Amino acid sequence: MSLPEGVQRREFDGEEVLATRGEPVYGEPVVEGWRRWDASRSKLGATFAHGLDTGLSGGDGVLYLGAANGTTVSHVADFAGPTYAVEFAPRPVRDLLGVAEDRGNLFPLLKDARKPETYAHVVESRLDAIVQDVATRGQADVALANRQFLADDGRFVGAIKARSEDVTREPEAVFEDVLERLREGYEVLSTDRLEPHHDDHLAVVATPK
Ligand code: SAM
Repeated sequence: MSLPEGVQRREFDGEEVLATRGEPVYGEPVVEGWRRWDASRSKLGATFAHGLDTGLSGGDGVLYLGAANGTTVSHVADFAGPTYAVEFAPRPVRDLLGVAEDRGNLFPLLKDARKPETYAHVVESRLDAIVQDVATRGQADVALANRQFLADDGRFVGAIKARSEDVTREPEAVFEDVLERLREGYEVLSTDRLEPHHDDHLAVVATPK
């Protein structure tokens, strides 16, 4: 598995798990400054744990869509460079602001990821990566709308939640449709189902085309 610099496999309670270096955020154990990154609480953590080659590197500029209260984006900001964290629900953003206090490279944005024009003046362009975990219908549309922020060789690393698209259809059928739409603007490099960590989620790594 290729991990970005700043993400390591470390031993916690006799188990080798992912960890990043930074201030703790959600009560996770810390050993010698390394915070346990729990794959069952983070789709990106599970994506690494499943061995996908994300193309992410230490110091990358990242646009994170669907930051919630900052569980995963706090780990991202530990290894990445400037990290723009978009979340449209005010309540989790309050917690996210606290997470950002300890991280000078983390910029919370109370914005709707379907309306990139509302934060285009703040977010730099030609970023190395978009990480997406938005629980909404139209996840491929969100990815396409934000593609403008990515460098030509940048990476889209997303977790597609089938139930947010359509609770009545088989997840595999939903994933096929989402991937077909995503291919209108991206070349899909790899995919993997995130069970057992996250049911009915598909990890996707893609690059702009
Ligand atoms: N990524 C987070 C983590 O691992 O710590 C968890 C994200 S949670 C599964 C999905 C989040 O997407 C929710 O906080 C929800 O409010 C947010 N969301 C859904 N639609 C959105 C939109 N259009 N713009 C911004 N955030 C959105």
